[in-house]
Amino acid sequence: MKQELNAILSFGAQAVSNTKNVFDEAAGVSLDRLIQGNSNYKSTSVNPAKLTSELRENTAINGQTPLAVVVCCSDSRVPLEHIFHAGIGELFVIRNAGNLISTFDLGSVEYAVEHLGTPLVLLMGHTNCGAVGAALSPVQEKGGLAAILSEIRAAIGPELDPRIAEEKNTLHALATLGRSPILQELHQQGKVEFAAAVYNIQTGHVDFLQE
Ligand SMILES: [Zn+2]
Repeated sequence: MKQELNAILSFGAQAVSNTKNVFDEAAGVSLDRLIQGNSNYKSTSVNPAKLTSELRENTAINGQTPLAVVVCCSDSRVPLEHIFHAGIGELFVIRNAGNLISTFDLGSVEYAVEHLGTPLVLLMGHTNCGAVGAALSPVQEKGGLAAILSEIRAAIGPELDPRIAEEKNTLHALATLGRSPILQELHQQGKVEFAAAVYNIQTGHVDFLQE
């Protein structure tokens, strides 16, 4: 799995054994901020992030410079900003059931990286994901839900272990981002780095897959 992740993170560039070495400074700062925020989240029930009227006014007037894009599942047990102790203007969030990358999701990531200068993109799955669980079962759905299950089943293949399937689904979404020519170019210019993680809905821990 780690080898697979490194291959994806290299985005066609030279593969490296320690992905941290290739993170540029801004992406590294963002990653450290997310790791520290998650560490704090696990030890307190209060999110001390800034939610002030001054900050609302400031960001409304001056715009946003999010520290990271996070693509995650819509599951209500994944309270994203709280998980990282983040406040207004800090995270550019894209959510759908199963943390998948459709055309609209891809465009949203490209927008944040290209136009807002966001230096880090985190693809985050989670434990006990209902979408992955449904994809592992023989259930047949209709409409948009059928499309979600089809995408996840393609990502996980014959895998039967839910935990491994959640990782595979997350890496599949990350690989889809990696096929974006816009993101490839920005990555090669050193303007964006990528990370993958799985959030444990029981412990609150974000397990970064490259660590
Ligand atoms: Zn889920």
